[in-house]
Amino acid sequence: MFAQLKGLFSNDIGIDLGTANSLVYVRDRGIVLREPSVVAIQAGTNNVLAVGEEAKRMLGRTPGNIIAIRPMKDGVIADFDVTGAMLRHFIQRVHHRKLIAPRVVVAVPSGITEVERRAVKDSVTHAGAREVYLIEQPMASAIGVGLPVHEPAGNMIVDIGGGTCEMAIISLAGIVFSRSLRVGGDEFDETIVAYMKRAHNLMIGERTAEEIKIRTGSAYPLEQELTMDVKGRDLSTGLPKTITIRSEEIREALKEPLSSILESIRITLERCPPELAADLVDRGIVLAGGGALLRQIDRLIAEETYLPVHVADDPMSAVAEGTGRVLQELQFLKRVASSSG
Ligand code: ADP
Ligand code: MG
Repeated sequence: MFAQLKGLFSNDIGIDLGTANSLVYVRDRGIVLREPSVVAIQAGTNNVLAVGEEAKRMLGRTPGNIIAIRPMKDGVIADFDVTGAMLRHFIQRVHHRKLIAPRVVVAVPSGITEVERRAVKDSVTHAGAREVYLIEQPMASAIGVGLPVHEPAGNMIVDIGGGTCEMAIISLAGIVFSRSLRVGGDEFDETIVAYMKRAHNLMIGERTAEEIKIRTGSAYPLEQELTMDVKGRDLSTGLPKTITIRSEEIREALKEPLSSILESIRITLERCPPELAADLVDRGIVLAGGGALLRQIDRLIAEETYLPVHVADDPMSAVAEGTGRVLQELQFLKRVASSSG
């Protein structure tokens, strides 16, 4: 009885507004929704036709009158209206009609502007929230993977998402230094598309490139190298063709975006105050985000930084889990919200 009553009232929501995937956490229930951050709209209007998985299937396959948009693609809010519609859709899907409007915590990319923050807050308020708090994604990610962010000690998180890679050094529940880089899993896919064209004269789409990355991609030599059959269009004949690719060549193709990430990690470490840098020698770096699932990426970063590197247990859920913990700790929420605006 009490649990039911509680369900009626307690419906606070945490949202990971990711460039590739959005997740929604409902207090006392955990993560209840994971959908691609994609919206299909009718061309020339703001009519939303589909959101999430259904809209993602339409990417690159739409007739002229439908457009599939990734409104957060590069870690900036490319389209306010579409981002707002997407947020409202997700909130409405989990919220139903409760007695009390929810409090909502939204984890936003750390690189967004004040205007974009305002737009996110307004959209969430319009969707029926009672209070809205924003938290920066690297902070949410660090909390979500269970780093002791409250302690006076250096913790480093690197979250590799679709459109961006966000990294931060955190101590005493504050961000000491952070960097947001517009390189992430999408860039890996684009490099694979370009490589297939250059090396095999084969035209493939970005969805196929993502599949190649997930099935054979790696950042460091594998004990057992992999192969995969890839279908595409032969650029010389114009006809469909299948070729077999090897993980070694995909690794070579991924070198460039990976080296941008390594470079940023190096800069972040250089800017780190010495006491905190000393902490990192023991604590190392934690990797989160879907990009952390690339084979051997931890190994590559460890070799380049001489620091221990750990991949979070469930890297794609880190930010959403972090918003969930923040909901549970309102005191902490207020402090974080006031320090990051
Ligand atoms: P965001 O937070 O920006 O929405 P996510 O953390 O959800 O991004 O990560 C999405 C990215 O992770 C995509 O580019 C996807 O291709 C990539 N990804 C997912 N699984 C894997 C995998 N097993 N190996 C490599 N990359 C992966
Ligand atoms: Mg993310």
